[in-house]
Amino acid sequence: MKRILVTGGAGFIGSHLCERLLNEGNEVICLDNLFSSSKNKIIPFLSNPNFEFVRHDVTFPYFAEVDEIFNLACPASPIHYQHDAIQTIKTSVMGAINMLGLAKRVNAKILQASTSEVYGDPDVHPQTEEYWGHVNPIGIRSCYDEGKRCAESLFVNYHEQNDVKIKIIRIFNTYGPRMELNDGRVVSNFIIQALKGEDITIYGDGLQSRSFQYVDDLVEGMIRMMNTGNDFVGPVNIGNPVEFTMLELAELILELTGSKSKIVNLPLPEDDPSQRQPNIDLARKKLNNWQPTVQLKEGLQNTIKYFDQALKNQ
Ligand code: UDP
Repeated sequence: MKRILVTGGAGFIGSHLCERLLNEGNEVICLDNLFSSSKNKIIPFLSNPNFEFVRHDVTFPYFAEVDEIFNLACPASPIHYQHDAIQTIKTSVMGAINMLGLAKRVNAKILQASTSEVYGDPDVHPQTEEYWGHVNPIGIRSCYDEGKRCAESLFVNYHEQNDVKIKIIRIFNTYGPRMELNDGRVVSNFIIQALKGEDITIYGDGLQSRSFQYVDDLVEGMIRMMNTGNDFVGPVNIGNPVEFTMLELAELILELTGSKSKIVNLPLPEDDPSQRQPNIDLARKKLNNWQPTVQLKEGLQNTIKYFDQALKNQ
């Protein structure tokens, strides 16, 4: 049994990761300040003696004897991370410093949940890990993008200078049950709008693309990455390479929900990437042939079921 710290453990991805780690018999400390998440997601784990919830902000130091750290803490939805841009930068940068300091002190292995946003609005397509990205350093996404880029630099330098055992994954768009109702991201917005019979809000012409990964595939990739040998630190892309336009996504959600909602076009936010698709050759090679197994249609069906229930419980 390992003792594992998950920062951002009450978030959408964090809660799925905590659940999987508990199911594998580990002891889990879930650290979260509940800024963009809610306790609801972890309530089912609270009765498990191997689970502990600590309300804490990673911009302040935290100490615990642990074997592994998954560093996920940071609001990840554009509306949430832009709400308090300075706090977002602090969470990524000071959070990384505090968690790397802890990893160094207790000799823990630490995995950074980085993001496809480090590639910005990419002019290389699909994105490989070698691509340095195309980020506007003063745009509205920069608090998240540059914070996560700085965190990658901190991880690599703690590894080089202090021998800390690090892993970096770059997570592409992920969806699934337990996304927040007010997350503001495209999958949750479209599903909720379709279920409520409200207009489906496409920003811009809807021809921008994203590649959507189901959360279970991501969690599998994270665990495989944590378990790789010390010679492989990443960064490695974890995402589903099947690319869809937002218009295609809207049409698929309308079909699956049987909704009569109409599609409307709203202005495209500043610096909104026009395309995004991971090249996952490295993940396949290094993570024991890891690749996504859940098709968008199947994943959306599970997610629609979840939101349908969540709306009824409101
Ligand atoms: N988007 C949209 N309607 C919405 C929410 C988002 O058309 O109600 C678009 C958004 O402009 C972007 C894409 O969907 O082009 C993905 O947005 P999301 O916020 O989910 O993630 P990110 O931009 O960080 O990939």
